[in-house]
Amino acid sequence: MVIIMLGAQGTGKGTVAGLISEETKLPQVSTGDIFRANISEQTELGKEANKYISQGNLVPDEITVPMVANRLQEDDVKKGVILDGFPRTIEQAQKLDEILGKEGKKVDLVINLTTPREELIDRMITRRVCTNKDCKTTYNTKLHPPKVEGICDKCGSPLKQREDDSNPEAINKRLEIYENQTQPLVDYYNEKGVLRTEIVSTSINRMGKDVADDIIKVFFGTEQKNT
Ligand code: AMP
Repeated sequence: MVIIMLGAQGTGKGTVAGLISEETKLPQVSTGDIFRANISEQTELGKEANKYISQGNLVPDEITVPMVANRLQEDDVKKGVILDGFPRTIEQAQKLDEILGKEGKKVDLVINLTTPREELIDRMITRRVCTNKDCKTTYNTKLHPPKVEGICDKCGSPLKQREDDSNPEAINKRLEIYENQTQPLVDYYNEKGVLRTEIVSTSINRMGKDVADDIIKVFFGTEQKNT
């Protein structure tokens, strides 16, 4: 099963994808995480990608598309995958259709998360991520703080703020790019009949965990354990 997480930055795509992945064992493939791992390891790809990411711009397709195509060749994703952060443009969506089509696969489900803009900005500013690259758990200093400030509950590693979350210009640029370039994917996938839109907002007391629970129930037929 190929699942895509769609939604602006800060809607909780990574959180929802992580919860579904934990329950279903489908691997979560986040292009942002792959880029960040390359940046911290200072690979050539990381150095190049960081020029765009730190400014809030999209990394060009010449870098992003082959990176995703290679990742989709790996054994662990043969049975399915949850793509988190890809595609982000119609061109990328068409490339993904081609890549999947070669293997007789297609996008089965697109989970489109929507959240009011003011909440998104607040969530990006208060987001903290685990620095352990095998953990990468996401926290929020207001909504979901760690038990000990600055320390990951799961693995004890230090938490940090993403560079692009601490730069107000990059935050605005990312939201603008989302509206102009990624939002059209909502229609693209709606026409294919695979779109499921979910509101995530404190105003209706519906958070990522509630969405993940429902998706798991509806598409995988199991109730998620309350942890
Ligand atoms: P994310 O963790 O999904 O918010 O991604 C962080 C940053 O990585 C984005 O702001 C982009 O600069 C870059 N990025 C992630 N996915 C893509 C993509 N599919 N296409 C281009 N750039 C991407």
